[in-house]
Amino acid sequence: MSAKPKIAFYEFTSCEGCQLTVVDSLQLYPELLEAVDIVRFREAMSEMGDDYAIAFIEGSCSRPSDEAPIKAIREKAALVVALGACAHLGGINTIRNRHDLGEVRRFVYGDKAEWYDTYPARPISAVIKVDAAIPGCPIDRHEFVRTVKRLLQGRAPELPDHPLCVECKLKENVCLYLRGTTCLGPIVRAGCDAICPTYGDSCEGCRGLVPNPNIEHLKEVLTEHGLSVDQTLAKMTQFLTYQVMEMEAAGHGDPQPAH
Ligand code: SF4
Ligand code: SF4
Ligand code: SF4
Repeated sequence: MSAKPKIAFYEFTSCEGCQLTVVDSLQLYPELLEAVDIVRFREAMSEMGDDYAIAFIEGSCSRPSDEAPIKAIREKAALVVALGACAHLGGINTIRNRHDLGEVRRFVYGDKAEWYDTYPARPISAVIKVDAAIPGCPIDRHEFVRTVKRLLQGRAPELPDHPLCVECKLKENVCLYLRGTTCLGPIVRAGCDAICPTYGDSCEGCRGLVPNPNIEHLKEVLTEHGLSVDQTLAKMTQFLTYQVMEMEAAGHGDPQPAH
């Protein structure tokens, strides 16, 4: 019997792009395959083992029938890792959380809307205890490998707590604010090497908010630069709806953009 840690991958509401990035990571770092025994990973193999120590869960919990299998994974796995923005934050699936779900279902499924059960999408940590998260849409392959290494060493993975702007400055990028473009960098968790601003695109927040984001100061800086606060806060609906609604529920400001 193999003494290597057994790993399984599961998917809930997602595009499975994060699992594809795992395949990419394993091609870049094939030595990782020597250290673990993957027992379930439908993007790459047909076997479906259910004996594992580490479970990676991709996707958000978006319907009542997701809850039992998510809890079953927690009961089996010593460690559960949320893989990607959908699992970590609820991600893009939470865009619908501010809308009437009946209308959303009819828009997507037409006259078959009643076939599909749904409720507001949530991150996996809203259903079970999660031991670690790998942020991003999709995940960063190097961060995936670093996280697996730390878990195998018995160390807790760490996420940076500082904002993306720090990484952006280290890359010596000209701030998009100076080019008349909004960006969520001041309130978003670093760790992606500021890849979007580096290539001229604004940050949409796929790695989630920093702890205690200063939304009021963000609004001040935007105003100083003559940029639209509403347009910037609207970007927060792409990946951050669940986090923002949690902040609102806790009474920490009202960052919801005007409609
Ligand atoms: S985080 Fe992005 S890439 Fe990953 S499963 Fe969700 S939508 Fe797909
Ligand atoms: S471009 Fe975005 S991430 Fe970079 S410094 Fe400006 S606000 Fe921050
Ligand atoms: S710059 Fe922002 S949107 Fe782009 S990968 Fe990083 S956190 Fe995600």
